[in-house]
Amino acid sequence: MAYVFKQNLLPASKYPIKAPYSMTPQYITVHNTANDASAGNEIKYMITNNNQVSYHVAIDDKEVIQAIRFNRNAWHCGDGQGNGNRKSIGIEICYSKSGGVRYAAAEENAVQYIAKLLKEYGWGIERVKKHQDWNGKYCPHRILSENRWNSFLKRIEEAMNPTNTIQLKEETKVPNTLTSTAKEDLKGLLKATYQKGILKVDHSERVGSMTDGEALGLLISVVKRTL
Ligand SMILES: [Zn+2]
Repeated sequence: MAYVFKQNLLPASKYPIKAPYSMTPQYITVHNTANDASAGNEIKYMITNNNQVSYHVAIDDKEVIQAIRFNRNAWHCGDGQGNGNRKSIGIEICYSKSGGVRYAAAEENAVQYIAKLLKEYGWGIERVKKHQDWNGKYCPHRILSENRWNSFLKRIEEAMNPTNTIQLKEETKVPNTLTSTAKEDLKGLLKATYQKGILKVDHSERVGSMTDGEALGLLISVVKRTL
């Protein structure tokens, strides 16, 4: 892995301004910072000021830094009480103003980190949104102006499953065709792996509504983590 993961968490005293609601995340929202600050400085600025502006993670060419836990909301989508602000994990990719090598490395780190999150949550690529999807803002500006949003998503899919991308992509479109016995088995497996700390999220209650692709993705991450 090319990045170091760190936390510099927003103090709970600032939750009323920057993360007032508890959240069960459903999406990941991608932003470009539109400046040339490092992830460390970006986060420091965000958690120190008193603006109603916040996000969960900032990523540069060296670090992925989390400032807000994913069970709290953050104000990064400009959609008021909409799903962007209330149900999505906000990720800022640094150095987008000038671009270049540092930005390219930051973007690649974001690809890897988002792929990891999708796998942990058992989500498909359709959970990844751009800021623009929520309120029309031209963000992530560099990915959009270079016309690379679709290829950015493809890179995430490939990072999720480098050897098996094509089959998985087809799988995710298929509804849940598991037999009731398989559903019960999968439920039990997911509960147990959550209780043992192998997966960070308890997916057992979602088995009935997940697609075959999601179920397969979850199984793959369980197997990978227990090998
Ligand atoms: Zn944005």
